[in-house]
Amino acid sequence: MELIVHRGTQEIGGSCVELKTDKTKVLIDFGMPLVKPDKEPFDAKTLANKSIEELKDLKMLPDIKGLYKNEDKEIDAILISHSHPDHYGLLNYVHPEIPVYMSQGAKELIEISSIFTPNKLDKVNSKIIDSIKSFNIDDIKITPYTVDHSAFDALAFLLEADGKRLFYSGDFRGHGRKSKLFSKIISKPPKNIDCLLMEGSTLGREEQLYKDEIAVQSRIEEILKAADNITFLFTSSQNIDRLVSAYKACLKTDRLFVIDIYTAYVLDRLSSVSKHIPQFDWRNVRVKFYKNQADILAGKVSEKLLYHYNSKKIEMDEINKQRNKILMLARFNSIFPRIIKSINNPAGAKVMFSMWEGYLTDEFKEYCAKTGLVIEQVHSSGHAKPEDLKSFARALNPKVLIPIHTFYADKYKELFDRVKILKDNEPFVV
Ligand SMILES: [Zn+2]
Repeated sequence: MELIVHRGTQEIGGSCVELKTDKTKVLIDFGMPLVKPDKEPFDAKTLANKSIEELKDLKMLPDIKGLYKNEDKEIDAILISHSHPDHYGLLNYVHPEIPVYMSQGAKELIEISSIFTPNKLDKVNSKIIDSIKSFNIDDIKITPYTVDHSAFDALAFLLEADGKRLFYSGDFRGHGRKSKLFSKIISKPPKNIDCLLMEGSTLGREEQLYKDEIAVQSRIEEILKAADNITFLFTSSQNIDRLVSAYKACLKTDRLFVIDIYTAYVLDRLSSVSKHIPQFDWRNVRVKFYKNQADILAGKVSEKLLYHYNSKKIEMDEINKQRNKILMLARFNSIFPRIIKSINNPAGAKVMFSMWEGYLTDEFKEYCAKTGLVIEQVHSSGHAKPEDLKSFARALNPKVLIPIHTFYADKYKELFDRVKILKDNEPFVV
């Protein structure tokens, strides 16, 4: 079989890998780039009002025959590893008849993003797949493996064809709340791997603050115990591991976890996938209503849900009264300064910044300094540390290891054996 990494050999984001046999063509991930060719941040707005052909000329869309809406279909299937936009964000351009395989969790989260963010997705021909349940796309056999990652229900893929076996790691780690999945794959790895495509997001990046998700939870607990004012948590509402850590910390310290309507809806939708995800009506959870979110939910989903979430609604008065007993989920948007204004004496209140530090802007730091909010970074990476990448590569023991989803492909040669660095669009026969 032949492999072409259309994007991702030298960058994080915009992942797109094609695997083909004489009969079949499968694409793995079709992500939005995070950087432009000059490595400056990519702005998704630059895609607006441009035709597929224009976007191909600008190298924003990879030149793949039979993939797009405006041509005859030649791609047999697309596999999506997880619900981060840098892995699925260009799906809007693909031919509507191409089946798109993904986990149930990824499907829910991708649909929610389409409702609540400007990246609206048209109808996708999605097919749900389960961990370890193999299926075939003509002569290619595919086995998904659920992996530990900051995106919920993320998958890696084993692809078999022409007597060869290729493993695509997707994004993964070994230190999240699902670290057992990592240990499991290390202790019983798929055998005889001819080619491993492995992510390396953490290579060349600084040490992470907390070694794992459990250490993050412990620090949240300590902060809540010591709090004499409201505490804020800045994190993605789709980072389910982090929400679980925060919720558990709230239970242990008997604090109220105040989420918003959007988060209540995310958790609600995922309740069909796992019974262990905290819900809006669970003990110590309350919902703060914001008009913009309520309008979206009522307008695009159902007004009934608002009545439903209303049973656990919390108002600013109550938040103010018990502010040293509150952990409030927030983001730096136009609403945040209004929340701070409605809190008596916000000075000294803590903001746990629980996302990649690249998102911590000078503007936000200045705002906190001005209002007396104290920022503390409480975070653990969504991606495997170099030592976990090493054990993963050692366990899978591939004949060839190809770097992907990394800015430091060169570092692979120092850390792993039998590394082959490809260029984007360079064909490679497995
Ligand atoms: Zn990811």
